[in-house]
Amino acid sequence: MKARDAISAALLLLAIGGGLVAGALRPIDDVLAVLRFDATSRPASQSLTVLEIDSRSLRSAGAWPWDRARYAEAIDNLVEAGATLVAFDVDFSAPSTPAGDKALAEAIARHPGQIALANFVQNDTYGARDSGVVENRPIPELRQNALLATVNVPVDSDGKVRGYDMRSLTSSQPSVAALMAGSSSGPGSYDIDFGIDHRTIPHLSFEDVLQDRFDRSLVSGRVILVGATALELGDEFATPAGLIPGVYIHGLAYESLVQGRRLFTLHPLATVALCGLLIFLLRPRRGGGAPLRGLIIRHGVSALLLLFAPIGLQAISPLGLQVGVLLCTQVAMAVWATRVELARRAHAIIQEREAGLLHLAMHQPETGLPNRRSLTQRIQAAWERCPEAGIAVVTIGVARHAEMRGVVGYAVADGLLSQLAARTRALVGVEVAQIATSTLAFMLQDLPEGELGGVLDGLKSLETTFQVDGHAIDIFLRMGAVEEGRGPVSPELLLERATLALNHAGEADGHAVVYSDDSFGSPANNLALMSEMRRAMASGDIALHYQPKLSLSDDGVRSVEALCRWRHPERGFISPDLFIPIAEETGQIRALTEWSLEQAIRDQARLQEWGHDVMIALNISGRLLTDEAFRTHVLERVARHPLRLCFEITETAVIQHPVLATDALAAFRSAGIKISIDDYGSGLSSLGYLKALKADELKIDKSLVVDVLDSQRDRLIMKSTVDLAHSLNMTVVAEGVETEALAASLRLLGCDAIQGYWFARALPILQLAEFLDGRAEAFPTLSMPVDLLKAG
Ligand code: C2E
Ligand code: MG
Ligand code: MG
Repeated sequence: MKARDAISAALLLLAIGGGLVAGALRPIDDVLAVLRFDATSRPASQSLTVLEIDSRSLRSAGAWPWDRARYAEAIDNLVEAGATLVAFDVDFSAPSTPAGDKALAEAIARHPGQIALANFVQNDTYGARDSGVVENRPIPELRQNALLATVNVPVDSDGKVRGYDMRSLTSSQPSVAALMAGSSSGPGSYDIDFGIDHRTIPHLSFEDVLQDRFDRSLVSGRVILVGATALELGDEFATPAGLIPGVYIHGLAYESLVQGRRLFTLHPLATVALCGLLIFLLRPRRGGGAPLRGLIIRHGVSALLLLFAPIGLQAISPLGLQVGVLLCTQVAMAVWATRVELARRAHAIIQEREAGLLHLAMHQPETGLPNRRSLTQRIQAAWERCPEAGIAVVTIGVARHAEMRGVVGYAVADGLLSQLAARTRALVGVEVAQIATSTLAFMLQDLPEGELGGVLDGLKSLETTFQVDGHAIDIFLRMGAVEEGRGPVSPELLLERATLALNHAGEADGHAVVYSDDSFGSPANNLALMSEMRRAMASGDIALHYQPKLSLSDDGVRSVEALCRWRHPERGFISPDLFIPIAEETGQIRALTEWSLEQAIRDQARLQEWGHDVMIALNISGRLLTDEAFRTHVLERVARHPLRLCFEITETAVIQHPVLATDALAAFRSAGIKISIDDYGSGLSSLGYLKALKADELKIDKSLVVDVLDSQRDRLIMKSTVDLAHSLNMTVVAEGVETEALAASLRLLGCDAIQGYWFARALPILQLAEFLDGRAEAFPTLSMPVDLLKAG
C-alpha cells in the first residue's frame, strides 16, 4: 500500500470510529437488524403470559389509578389458577386508599415469594439526590412479602430500546425479566432478540381475570407479567421492530433469556478492527489495474456476505452482528476503488492518446508505415550511435503509381505499398519507411564498399506480381540511392539526394540510380541549368542526336528517334534524364521541344538532300499534349513544312487528361503526324487506353524486352502484346536491344522493328548520314536461336 493510500485508509478508519462512537450509523444498523429479525423470526416459549391492563379493563374500572383491591383479587385468581409467579410492571410507590393498600398487602402475604413488585429508577428533575436519580420503590406495606424487581427499560440516546439490563444499575436488584427467568448469571446487559414475535406471547385481559372468566391453561404453571397495554396509559417504547408496550419489552427480554437468545454484539474496538481488515482486503490495487467488472464482483460479493452472513449467524447462534459500519466501510472502499480505477483509466486513455499522437506523427496514416520523420530520426540516431560508419539511403518508387491508383483505387494502392514495404523489409532486414505517396525508403549503416550495387540488384526481385484484395498487380520499380562515408550527416539532405536519384532513375538502365555530386549537381545548380538552356540551344551545346530504328521485315531504316544531348562547358555531358524532368517542371519543355521540332525539320531536309528519306520521331512530354499553344504551333509549322514526323508519347499523359490528350493526338494525326506509344510496359500499362489511343506504333520498353531471352513468361507477354498491337493496326518497336540474340528472338516474336545499342546508338546528324550510307553497302545478318524457334 502506498503512503498516500495508507493515509486515506487511516482517515477512513478514524471517520468510521468517530461515526461508531457518535451512533451515526444506528439507523442503518436498525434497518439491517429488522432484516435479520424478520429472517430469524421465532415464537415465544409459552412459559410467560402477559396480563394486559388494556382499554377494556380501564373502561370497566372507570377510574385510574385503580383501587388496589382489584390487584388483590386478580392475584388470588391467578395463583389459584396455578401461576408460578405474578410480576407487576405497575407503579406502587405511592399510597392509595388505606383499604386498597391493605387488601393488596394481604393478598401478597397470602402468596409469599410468588408476587414481584416493580422498582424503578427515575431521573430526578428537581435534583433532590446527589446521584441525580430517584429510586421509586413500592410502599413499605406492600414490599413486606413481595419480591422486588427493576422494571426500567434502558433507552438509547436516540430514544430506541435495543438492549436490556440483567439488574438495576443503582441497586443489585434483578430486572423483572431476570427475576421471572430465574437467571442471575451472565453479563450485565444484552440485546433483546426482537426476532421473537411478541405477538406470540400469550396474553389475557386484566378484566377477564378479575371476573374469573379466563383460560386457565394460559396461567397454570406459567409466569404472569402484569402491565399496561392501553394506549391511553402511554407505556410504549420505540424499538428496531417498531413500537412495543413496555410490558412486552420485559416479555421479550424474558423470552431472550429463557430461549438462550441474549444477543451479543461485537465490542466497538473489535468492530473497528474488522473495518481495518476490510479496508486492507478491499484496498484499491493501483498496479495492474482492476477491470471494473472485477471490482463490481469483488465488492458485490463482499456486500452480499456482509448482508447475509450475519443473518445466518444470528439464525444459528445468539450473535447479533451490527454490520452497518462494515457495510459503510465497504461502500466507502467501493467508491474509493472505483475512483482509483476511473483515474487509472483516464490516465491510460491519456497515455494511449499520446501514444496515438506519437504514432500519427511518425507513421503514414493510410499504410501505417513509418514516415519520413521517422526515417530521418532513425538516420540521425544511427549516425549518433556510430559516427564512424557510413550511411546509405535507398529510395524505391513504384512506377506510375498515381495511374495505377486511378485504376485500382486508393485502398488497393495503399495495400500494395504496405506489401511492398513488408517484402522489402524481409529482403533487407531493416525498417522500411514511406516517405511519399509512392515512395519507400530505408537506411543501411556500415555497408561494405561496393555492396550498395548488390543491394539495389537484390531489390529488383521485388518486381513481381502482387495480390492485393483480389487484384493481381504487376509492379515496376525505380530505385535511387545515396551513400555517405564517415562524417556528420544531414538526414534530410541524404533523403533529398536519394529522392533526386530516384527521380532520375525512371528511364535509366536497370532502373536504379546512385546519387553523385558530379552527375546531379545541387538542386540549386539544376535550377541555374534551366536559365542556361536557351543559350545552350542557340550555341549548339544542346543538340539532337538520332537513334535509328531497324525495320525487321527488310533490315531497312525508315525512322530515327531524336534524342536530346547537352554537352555543358563546365559540367560536361548532362543526361536528358536529368534536364528533361527539370525542364518539364519549370515549363521550359515547350521551348526545348519547339526547338527540337525546328532542328528536326532542318535535319530531315539535310538528310533528304543526302539521299536518305527517314521519318523523325520526336519525344513529346505528356504535359505538352494539353498545351494549346504548343498544339497550334506544331500544326502551323507542319502545315508550312510538310515532313515525315512521328511523336513519341507515354500513356501517362493520356491517362491523366484523357479528353484533352486524345483530342491533341487526333489533331496531330490528322495533320499527318504519326503517333507512337513510348515506354510501353515500363509501368502500369492499360490495354484499354491502348485501344482508345489510335496510335500508329507501340514501343515496348527495354525493361520488358531485356528478359525475353531468359524468361518464357516474358516471351508470352511480348508475344501477346505484339499480337494485340497488330490487331489494333500498330507496328511494334522493341527498345533497348543490346544483343544480336535478343534481336533475333524479337524478330521471331513478330516485332516489326528494333532500336538499341546493338544496332546503333543515338548519332549526331553527320554520323547518322554516314551510318545510313554504310547500311546501303552492308547489312548485319541475324541468326535465330533454335530454342526460340520452338518457343515461338
Ligand atoms: P526514350 O524516349 O525511351 O529513349 C530511349 C532511351 O534509351 C534513350 O536514352 C536512349 O539513348 C536509350 N537507349 C537506346 N538504346 C538503348 C540500349 O540498347 N540500351 C540502353 N540501356 N539504353 C538505350 P536517353 O537519350 O538518355 O533519353 C532518355 C529519355 O529522355 C528518353 O527515353 C526520353 O524519354 C527522354 N528524352 C530524350 N530526349 C528528349 C527530348 O528531346 N524531349 C523529350 N521530351 N524527352 C526526351
Ligand atoms: Mg522515345
Ligand atoms: Mg522509350
